[in-house]
Amino acid sequence: MAAYAFFHGKFVPLAEAKIGIMTHAFNYGTACFEGIRGNWNNEEKQIYLFRARDHYQRLVNNCRILKISIPYTIDELCRLTVELVEKNGYREDIYVRPIAYKSSEVVGVRLHDLEDDFLIFVTPFGPYLDIANGVRCCVSSWRRIDDNMIPPRAKITGLYVNSALAKTEAVDNGFDEAIMLTHDGHVSEGSGENIFLVMAGKLVTPPPSDNILIGITRDTVIKLANRELGIETIERQIDRSELYIADECFLTGTAAHVTPVLEIDHRNIGNGQVGTISKKLQDLYFNVVQGKNKKYLDWCTAAYKKRVKT
Ligand code: PMP
Repeated sequence: MAAYAFFHGKFVPLAEAKIGIMTHAFNYGTACFEGIRGNWNNEEKQIYLFRARDHYQRLVNNCRILKISIPYTIDELCRLTVELVEKNGYREDIYVRPIAYKSSEVVGVRLHDLEDDFLIFVTPFGPYLDIANGVRCCVSSWRRIDDNMIPPRAKITGLYVNSALAKTEAVDNGFDEAIMLTHDGHVSEGSGENIFLVMAGKLVTPPPSDNILIGITRDTVIKLANRELGIETIERQIDRSELYIADECFLTGTAAHVTPVLEIDHRNIGNGQVGTISKKLQDLYFNVVQGKNKKYLDWCTAAYKKRVKT
């Protein structure tokens, strides 16, 4: 099956979507990107794109920070994405990666007087972390970069060196994922996930001012917890030591979905098993993202007009 990308304003075979080695974004990390999940629903033989509009709204906002202009409206971006997913025709979970980037082939560190371009590619993408059995985390020796260094809310490609340093350090040390602290030592987030604690029956999660990416999965979980389970979320600064005494902990993200955390820095979280609230939220979330919960269908965009043949 041929894979396609949206590149230079049209749909082209993925193999032909290449950028030049002098491209500004490649040299200096001057791009904003998104990650959108397409979740395969096997009963309906359908892929549901989850909260695509919200992802594109975040991208368009973030592009203002990097002075990148995207020549499409949010509706057009959603339509292009559906068309690209249809063209690719995958019958499994996928990941959609839109990138808005500084495309001039020129040397010079700046944001002004540069051309912009926009592309999208799609790739099959199974579970990113062990969602069923949970993961073991460490607190990273790498601190989360601050809003007035490179804004973490902006999902800037160059910023992800910070996450990559933390992730590889964690894996090299035998853990699955890193939890980064802010410059002043408060809990921020994972390398590609937001973090939640369960404490005394409530969810606790760091606020945007603690240099997190304001996750769409984070928002989804806060809403599902409130509406479906009557569980309140408190956004507040979290001390490192609170990680060790929480009843439950889980990570959220487009790639990570809702991933239970069983251990942090060699200390069991709760009884060291997948927590009951984490599990309930995970089940609710999977139903919603696969388009199986009628109440939340407006968060899901069906990518295929017709049932695809299997
Ligand atoms: N934090 C970081 C650093 C991320 O890269 C991601 C993934 N986009 C998230 C949190 C989760 O955000 P979302 O739920 O919107 O995917």
